[in-house]
Amino acid sequence: MNEHATSTQKPTPEAPLWLLAELTYRCPLQCSYCSNPLDFAATTNNELTTEEWVDVLRQARAMGAVQLGFSGGEPLVRRDLETLVGEARQLGFYSNLITSGLGLDEARIDTLHAAGLDHIQISLQASDPDVAEAVAGSRKAYDKKLAMARAVKAAGYPMVLNVVLHRHNIDQLDAIIALCAELDADAVELANCQLYGWAHLNRNGLLPSREQLETAEATTVRWRERLSREGRDMQLLFVVPDYYADRPKACMGGWGSIFMSVAPDGAVLPCHSARMLPMSFPNARDDSLEWIWYDSDAFNRYRGEDWMPSPCRDCDERHQDFGGCRCQAYLLTGDPTATDPVCEFSPHHHLIESARREASEDKRKAAQLTPRNVHESRVFCRA
Ligand code: SF4
Ligand code: SF4
Repeated sequence: MNEHATSTQKPTPEAPLWLLAELTYRCPLQCSYCSNPLDFAATTNNELTTEEWVDVLRQARAMGAVQLGFSGGEPLVRRDLETLVGEARQLGFYSNLITSGLGLDEARIDTLHAAGLDHIQISLQASDPDVAEAVAGSRKAYDKKLAMARAVKAAGYPMVLNVVLHRHNIDQLDAIIALCAELDADAVELANCQLYGWAHLNRNGLLPSREQLETAEATTVRWRERLSREGRDMQLLFVVPDYYADRPKACMGGWGSIFMSVAPDGAVLPCHSARMLPMSFPNARDDSLEWIWYDSDAFNRYRGEDWMPSPCRDCDERHQDFGGCRCQAYLLTGDPTATDPVCEFSPHHHLIESARREASEDKRKAAQLTPRNVHESRVFCRA
């Protein structure tokens, strides 16, 4: 069935809890901070069919996964989304649509609701249309997103708004949160840009300054207090950028621990960014998800602690952060086994400091960053 090596020295993992179904890399927007692979254009004609996705959902549910995210690219581009949502409902998944809002309208909200979709998360780029256009490459997207956020709430969905923060919109945070409150969001993820994929390519033009970050954190605290005083239960989640932390995040709760991502072409990954790593990943077209999760080399490679180098190997915090993010280690050091340089104990921590310095010297405006689109992606397909 497969030719991959099987690891024998790893702890037996629990079943996956989460399945992220990246239905497509196609997207009408061009966000310069997109975490999709740089060479995404290579897979746009090779997406899993409806039947193949149904099979993926059935396998994952049979293994025990309960949370399902439909993501992309823009998942609404897939005309079979309602079919897949219906299958997910029948299987007993709790399903979440992660969308830009483009491709949504009242009729589609109704059909998705009828199919059994549980939750919708819409991304917002900014609180004013000029910044939103500069970042996402679309003038009309801003109004459309606001209209769809209102329609989603009117349909009775719990709604999470996701705002990726970077130096070009972080100073608008007060207005962004006010807009989210006006839209009656149930929760707002203020997620400082994770520097993978296109965001890594544009890193120097996206990373905020420490002063910007501190102001944004204070603004968030002020809004939490205000919302509490007003008896509003809109949750504000502020995700600090890795490059200003002194410990790495517990990436995906540990490699191959709770999370499984299936890419549009069927590649099965421990996280949606992992295909950048210098290793091959199994494919749902060739192998069962069960074999991939429990037995493939890819899912076992960074499980447990045997693979950890010093200083993680002897560090008491390794059970909490698992040595950090493999993608970040690879992007910054060229070595996917290295301690995440975000950690202040890493021998490569100086790379984070240099990155912050380089970014402070980059004066590009948002519209001057490299847009995430098929044309730019083809450059990386040839590379
Ligand atoms: S980040 Fe922007 S370009 Fe990337 S998938 Fe989301 S909406 Fe599309
Ligand atoms: S040395 Fe490794 S385990 Fe310890 S805090 Fe840093 S990344 Fe975590």
